[in-house]
Amino acid sequence: MEYLLALVDLENALLVALIFVPLERLFPARPDQRTFRRSWLNDIVYFLLNRVPIGIGMLLLAVLGSLLGSAFIPVEFRAAVAAQPFWLQVVVLLLFADFGFYVVHRLFHTIPALWRFHAIHHSIEELDWLAAHRVHPIDQIVTKGATLVPIFALGFSGSAMAAFFLLYQWHSLILHANVRIGFGALHWVVASPCFHHWHHADHPEAWNKNFSGQFPVWDIIFGTAHMRRDSLPTRYGIEEPVPGTYGRQLLYPFQSRADAAPQN
Ligand SMILES: [Zn+2]
Ligand SMILES: [Zn+2]
Repeated sequence: MEYLLALVDLENALLVALIFVPLERLFPARPDQRTFRRSWLNDIVYFLLNRVPIGIGMLLLAVLGSLLGSAFIPVEFRAAVAAQPFWLQVVVLLLFADFGFYVVHRLFHTIPALWRFHAIHHSIEELDWLAAHRVHPIDQIVTKGATLVPIFALGFSGSAMAAFFLLYQWHSLILHANVRIGFGALHWVVASPCFHHWHHADHPEAWNKNFSGQFPVWDIIFGTAHMRRDSLPTRYGIEEPVPGTYGRQLLYPFQSRADAAPQN
């Protein structure tokens, strides 16, 4: 479990900010976007506070996964998984986890009760590394649960899981960052900032597209890919009036609103 705690710790504001703030100034995708853009203070609150409920949720999921694994997966199978080469375990983990992410992410866009949680993430109107943290804790815990529980149940080695979490975490920050980083031909293989920025676009042709977190292959297979290399969206966010502060955003999914329906 230490690597899960390390993951929660890793996201310390100073280190991440020291890397991403200069990067976004040097290679901005949208040069006119300010570092202290709209709602940055609210997203700092997410950055600092959200790790507590999410960290607790992830620990519980890890325990649940391990218990289910011990109860239902033969010990020989778990040992065989852990004995595979490190690189193979990491590749399988990444692909396996991203498939789970694709399915659950798509459900969050499809089922109105789930969308109300996910709408918080899509309320971002200016994307950057900090905006990546604006996620309702229940959205994050349920989405991660879909991947963490089977991963822990199947018995991957601790070092492979640590590498997976590290790659996943940093990739998520890069995806949201206001950076002009193209992945060249790998654009079709690994999700780029451009790929995920289109997921956040307030353009009807891009709604319900690009659900994959790391590998566009899932969107390509299931017909939800919106592969644009030449341009970024001109508008981000949703039409729905999501409140502007952390506390009110956490309560938002529990308040009834007749007009709240999945958009993005
Ligand atoms: Zn989404
Ligand atoms: Zn996002």
